[in-house]
Amino acid sequence: MAEITLKGLAHSYEKTPKGAADYAIRQMDHVWHQGGAYALLGPSGCGKSTLLNIISGLLEPSEGDVLFDGQRVNELPPEERNIAQVFQFPVIYDTMTVFDNLAFPLRNMNTPEYRVKPKVLEVADILELTPLLNRKAKNLTADEKQKVSMGRGLVRDDVTAILFDEPLTVIDPQLKWKLRRKLKEIHERFNITMIYVTHDQLEASTFADKIAVMYDGQVVQFGTPRELFERPAHTFVGYFIGSPGMNFMAVKYQDEQAMFGNQSLPVSESIKRAIAHASSNNIKLGIRPEFIDISASPSTESLPVEVISVQDLGTYSLLTYKLNGQTFKARLPEGHSPVGEAAFAEFDTAKLALYIDEYLVETGHE
Ligand code: ADP
Ligand code: MG
Repeated sequence: MAEITLKGLAHSYEKTPKGAADYAIRQMDHVWHQGGAYALLGPSGCGKSTLLNIISGLLEPSEGDVLFDGQRVNELPPEERNIAQVFQFPVIYDTMTVFDNLAFPLRNMNTPEYRVKPKVLEVADILELTPLLNRKAKNLTADEKQKVSMGRGLVRDDVTAILFDEPLTVIDPQLKWKLRRKLKEIHERFNITMIYVTHDQLEASTFADKIAVMYDGQVVQFGTPRELFERPAHTFVGYFIGSPGMNFMAVKYQDEQAMFGNQSLPVSESIKRAIAHASSNNIKLGIRPEFIDISASPSTESLPVEVISVQDLGTYSLLTYKLNGQTFKARLPEGHSPVGEAAFAEFDTAKLALYIDEYLVETGHE
């Protein structure tokens, strides 16, 4: 069993990194607890594969430590780490049968044959590969090859963690959904730590209990899908999670008001205080599209806006409007009364979140 700790970890592919921009992983600390179903979510190029390869041992970090149950493993090769890794593209032996491919990781560790067979059959059954067991891998479709590749990651009993690096990229959408459910089942059955890398928030939240959101070489938030939605710790999380993401307004403190351009915004006392005392000029207020109320007539706290479009998405509508030259998205519940070009927007002040230098400092809770 293993708890995986990343301590003061940083990695640069450069021999002599000159600045932050030369780092694929920027100084970070993180703990993956034993048995968790985790997702590592972030856009392409943010450092997800680099981080996985450091955990599995394919890559040695340039700074900091990787600890398994408190033991430093930086120099330990992948085969001595009891970790399996499944990659984006199939890693299989074309000339071997499916059975032999699945058996390979076991035979490689000198597992007796009487134990190889039941394990291979079990994994083949889970992944619905049983009818293909005697086929040569080179004759398989791309989907089937990737399933075999995943099976090779799942077959070992001794692994304490399985790392998946965007494993369903080459799988067709319908099967994708099914395989993700399978992985979840396997997680529940075997209590193995799983880290699932993806750039897709839906994929992350259907697989994982906890998601690490990565941005620019750092984990900017680690939380449940709900926490990421309700309390994004970083503007990137607000923007990346949700559909569409959070709206942001650059604000400043003027005449005892929170000003967005020349518009005074109604905010809670706690947010107003935090803005007044901010030591940076990079101050933003965030509001999710779900918490903007749009109506045809004004109220005491609403702001006049210019409606650009309304898109009917079945169970809700997405309204795009402009305020202060900036585009906003608001989500209107089904059955919301129609509005014209000139409408009024009201933020739920309890749901406003204040970001200073991109990090959350205060929410509008009353
Ligand atoms: P992700 O998996 O999130 O798409 P990567 O970990 O592959 O991100 O890449 C992170 C950064 O490191 C990117 O800027 C990428 O160009 C760079 N990078 C990745 N692999 C290498 C490598 N082998 N040599 C040099 N730079 C690399
Ligand atoms: Mg990658």
